[in-house]
Amino acid sequence: MNTRFAGVSASILDAIGDTPLLEIEGIYAKLEFLNPSGSIKARIAKYMIVRAEREGLLKPGGTIVEATSGNTGNALAMVAAVKGYRMLVVMPEGLSSERVAISRAYGAEVLFCGRFHVNDALAKARELGRQPGHFCPRQFDSEWNVEENRLVLGPEILAQLPAGRVPDALVAGVGTGGTLIGVGQAFRAINPAVRLFAMEPSESCTLLCGEIALHQIEGISDGFVPGIFQRHASLVDEVLSVSSGEAIESMRHLARRHGLFCGPSSGAHLLAARRVRERHPELRTVVTLFCDEGEKYLQEHFMRGDSVTVNAGHFA
Ligand code: PMP
Repeated sequence: MNTRFAGVSASILDAIGDTPLLEIEGIYAKLEFLNPSGSIKARIAKYMIVRAEREGLLKPGGTIVEATSGNTGNALAMVAAVKGYRMLVVMPEGLSSERVAISRAYGAEVLFCGRFHVNDALAKARELGRQPGHFCPRQFDSEWNVEENRLVLGPEILAQLPAGRVPDALVAGVGTGGTLIGVGQAFRAINPAVRLFAMEPSESCTLLCGEIALHQIEGISDGFVPGIFQRHASLVDEVLSVSSGEAIESMRHLARRHGLFCGPSSGAHLLAARRVRERHPELRTVVTLFCDEGEKYLQEHFMRGDSVTVNAGHFA
């Protein structure tokens, strides 16, 4: 038995983290979709709320308000439910409907602002966060986001790698940039030569060419370069792009071939990590993450006939 769950747990928040690290197609993938609320965001949600309580920024009866493309909203709504706060999720219209429903299921209110990209929601959440009794974690800017990844997620991965192995590369899509930068910092402390690869959709090439457009890799490339990425951009070695179509095909491959039912960003991560292995054979230990569960995309990608088509492209 996993000793973490020996005895009685205090709350579902105790089940966040300690996810498996899987070796798959020559890369190491951290299975973050297994976190409560179905994504990697459970980690920073818990961390930022505990920190805010400690710093006196959030008091009993308070309201949490955050802009999100969905997963952070789901995660904060779960944390708010456990801790008895009111939760206001501010998100754009046009993203997967499951994520709206999941936030509501945890008792959160959802306020729509803008379409597809998070910019408008960001401004609204900040404005609401200034009201008395309100706290806005500001995930896209907060160093607490980076800190969780550096102090908790990064060291977890390092401890799980086979004895004697250190990461040669990290591949991560940029939503807030917290995962890439924070885990990257933890890796660099162990291996100063580790290569950090950011990933973004080829249709919305924001980091490489300042372009903002619609894409289907939800959770990354939210329509602006986040403060975290701007501040720490010098740590990043290269930006890779993956198209939405490739990401979705790779997402389906993960479920069918490996039994991993994850979202499009996980598919994109697998593909980008495989490209890094192919282009740089000297990078032996390539790490990536599968960030959210496929159940969040049932309506969008798995309820129609096209989901049973076997794609012959990258995964023939
Ligand atoms: N994939 C998914 C599905 C996400 O929800 C997120 C976070 N929004 C990411 C990847 C990127 O993580 P980060 O915010 O740490 O850059």
